[in-house]
This record gives sequence, C-alpha cells and structure tokens, in this order.
Amino acid sequence: VLNGEKWFSSSASVADIALVMARTDPDAPRHQQFSTFIVELPNPGYRIIRDIPTMGIEGPLSHILGGGHSEIEIKDLKVPAENLLGGEGQGFNMGQHRLAYGRLRHGMHNVAMAQRALDMATARVTERSTFGRKLSERQGVQFMLADCASELYMARLMLLHIAYKAEKGMDLRQENSIAKVFLAHMVHKVVDTAIQLHGALGYSRDTPLAAWYTHIRAQRLVDGPDEVHRWTVGRNVIKAFEAHGTTASAAGGDLL
Ligand SMILES: Cc1cc2nc3c(=O)[nH]c(=O)nc-3n(C[C@H](O)[C@H](O)[C@H](O)COP(=O)(O)OP(=O)(O)OC[C@H]3O[C@@H](n4cnc5c(N)ncnc54)[C@H](O)[C@@H]3O)c2cc1C
Repeated sequence: VLNGEKWFSSSASVADIALVMARTDPDAPRHQQFSTFIVELPNPGYRIIRDIPTMGIEGPLSHILGGGHSEIEIKDLKVPAENLLGGEGQGFNMGQHRLAYGRLRHGMHNVAMAQRALDMATARVTERSTFGRKLSERQGVQFMLADCASELYMARLMLLHIAYKAEKGMDLRQENSIAKVFLAHMVHKVVDTAIQLHGALGYSRDTPLAAWYTHIRAQRLVDGPDEVHRWTVGRNVIKAFEAHGTTASAAGGDLL
C-alpha cells in the first residue's frame, strides 16, 4: 500500500501506466531504500491534482511534447506484489540508469533546437539591413554567429562521445553531467542570440523563439539542477587526481 505526493511528474496526465518509486526500507543503505512499482491507470489511489502552470509551452502543443507537469496524490494505493519492477531496493539504481539516457535525449533536443535557432538567426541577418548594410556584413554579428556555431559544435562532440561510451557499455556518468549542464546553457545562449538578432521580432510571438526561450529554461533544473551536477563533477575531478595524479579521466580524456 503506497502513500505520498509528487509534483512535477512530466507527462503524467497523458500516461496509461505510472512507475511509482517509493521508500520501502528506510533502514537500508541510502541507495537501496527505494523500490519501483508498476501502477496501471486510472486507479482510485492515484489522483492528478493539477497540471502545474509553468513558464514553458502550455496548451495543445504541450500535449504534442508529452503533456504538462502534474502534481499527484497517492493515497492508500494498493499494488499487487507482482507489480514490483526489478528487485526490492532497486528503485534508485533503476531511476539513475533511466535518467542517464534521458539526459542524453534532452541533449539531442537541445542541439536540434539550437541548430534551428542558429539557422533562423542567420536567415534573418542575411535579409535585414540597418544603417545601409546587411546585418550579415557586420563583423560584430559574425562574431555572434561564430560563438553560437562553436558551442553547438562542442555540444555535438560531447553527445557523440557519450553515445560512443553508451554503445561500448562504459561508465558515462561524469561526461553526462558535464554535457547536461553545458548543453542547457548552450541552447539558452543560442536561442537568446537568435532573439537578439531578430530585434523586436524575436521578442514577439510571431516566431517560435520566445516560446523556446522560456521552455528551455527548465533544462537547467530538470534531471538535477546545474549546481548538483557541478558539485558531482568537481568531486570526481578531485577523486581522479587523487587516484591517478591527473584529472584526465574526469575531463573526457579517455577519448584521446
Ligand atoms: C519542467 C520540469 C519538469 C520536471 N519533470 C520531472 C519529472 O518528470 N519527474 C521528476 O521526478 N522530477 C521532475 N522535475 C523536478 C526536477 O528534477 C527538480 O526540480 C530538480 O531536480 C531540482 O529539485 P527541486 O526543484 O526540489 O530544487 P531544490 O532541491 O529545492 O533546489 C533549489 C536550488 O538550490 C540549488 N541547490 C540544490 N542542491 C544544491 C547543492 N547540493 N549544492 C548547491 N546548490 C544546490 C540549485 O540551484 C537548485 O536549483 C521537473 C522539473 C521541471 C522544472
């Protein structure tokens, strides 16, 4: 019998099945206290209180993107023993495993969105003239495009490296955390630059840029906020140095 509350459960309002992670043994070691249960929906013990209004994309488009972010009440929810997913106490490890690939997927979305924003920015500056010259002829504008292209390229290489490690069954947690933080900032910067180069048009809702700008702000929070990932990354840098006398293994050095 499960009881509890959860908010910010993405896509819960369009789900037919929920995976509910619950603390089943508070006395077990920290990472073995949780188990995951398969809950078929609808279920009388499982209630969506509301979809939380956010600064992200709302309305019909949010459903195309997988629904909103729900607040859920779980009250005396009866789950048969055979609905335990994996073993007892495996919930945390399974969750972390899923999150690793989820972050990779977020990263791919971020690259795609940044690429589209850079294309839009470039199209705009090749059309628009101010003070007698095309924006694209101005070196200041070219520098802005160059910075975006550079970060987009770094982001692509990070994802390729992580995908390579995933394919080889290697530990990718450190690179995944580094990339998760970098890509969230990268996409924000590229979309912000595209808005800047569109001028007032970028601020309007006549292009998708404004919606993207607010939507992707969540990337610095979802699947762990920047600071928590940077905290982990920093500790791993120190551990690598202590173990090997170099930080290379904590800084993507194994690709070389
Ligand atoms: C759009 C969206 C969708 C989400 N979807 C889901 C979902 O589907 N499932 C799910 O389980 N969760 C989901 N979340 C929740 C998300 O994972 C959490 O918001 C995130 O992990 C941060 O936790 P918190 O909100 O409790 O912030 P807190 O833990 O309260 O942290 C607040 C801030 O404090 C700082 N901070 C926290 N810890 C440290 C530290 N150790 N060192 C330094 N600074 C620190 C960070 O700046 C952090 O942003 C979603 C969130 C958003 C915004």
